[in-house]
Amino acid sequence: MSTKEKLYEGKAKILYPTDNPEILLTYFKDDATAFNALKRGQIRGKGEVNCTVSVALLSYLENKGIPTHLIEKISPLEMLVKAVQIIPVEVVVRNIAAGSLCKQTGLPEGQILPQPLVEFYLKNDDLGDPLLTYDRLMLLELVTDSQLTELKNLTLKINQLLQTFFLECDITLVDFKLEFGFDGEGKIILADEISPDTCRLWDNKISDPQARIMDKDRFRRDLGEVENAYQKVQERILAKIN
Ligand code: UDP
Repeated sequence: MSTKEKLYEGKAKILYPTDNPEILLTYFKDDATAFNALKRGQIRGKGEVNCTVSVALLSYLENKGIPTHLIEKISPLEMLVKAVQIIPVEVVVRNIAAGSLCKQTGLPEGQILPQPLVEFYLKNDDLGDPLLTYDRLMLLELVTDSQLTELKNLTLKINQLLQTFFLECDITLVDFKLEFGFDGEGKIILADEISPDTCRLWDNKISDPQARIMDKDRFRRDLGEVENAYQKVQERILAKIN
C-alpha cells in the first residue's frame, strides 16, 4: 500500500496520489457494502480478484479501442490509473432484468430485454444514487447533450465487447455499472473498475437461478459461497486471456 496520504477512500477502493500529478494509485479493499452501505462485510480475497478482473477487462477494452484510465497493475491489489475528473453519474447498462429494474418496474428477474437499456444514476450516497431523467441531467449540468450521447454510445460499445468476452467465459453479462471521467485534455474516458462488485454475472454452466450467480448479489442476498464465486470469475477470465 502507498505510504502517501490517501486522496479519497470509497467503499471498496482507496485512491492515493503518486509523484506524478497525472497518475493515481487505486488500492482494492476486501470491504463489501450493499444497499447504500446499510449492509457491510468483508469478502476474503475480493481486493485481489477485483484488481485482477478490472485490469484484465480494462486492458481488453483499451485494446479494442475504448479509451480507459488504466495504466498498469503494479501489485496484486494496486493499479496505476490516469487522474481524471470523475463525472458524478453512474451509467448502468442492462441486458436482462434484475435488481432495481425489477423492483421499480415489476419486470420479472431474468427477462431478456429487447435491446440493452442504458440508465443514468446520480453518484450521491446521501441521496441514495437516484435514477436521473434526461431533463434532470441537463438541469444539474452534469453533462452536455453531446457528452450524454457520447457516454451512451461508449457504454453500448463496451456492453457489446464485454458481452462477447464473457460469453466466451461461459458467463452471461446481465447488467453492470460504469463510471467515466474527463482526462487532462477534456476527453471522456472510462474510469473506476469493472468487477464482480459492479456487474451481475450468471454462470452459463449452471441452470439453477441462485446457484448460477457469480457476483455481489451472493453477498447482497446472503447466498453464501461469495469468495468461491468471485474466484471462479477470475479463473475463467484468466483462462481466456492467457
Ligand atoms: N451497481 C454498482 N454500484 C452501484 C449501483 C449498482 O456497481 O452503486 C451495479 C450493480 O452491481 C448491478 C448494476 O449496477 O450490476 C445494476 O444495479 P441495480 O440498479 O439493479 O442496483 P441494485 O440491485 O444494486 O439495487
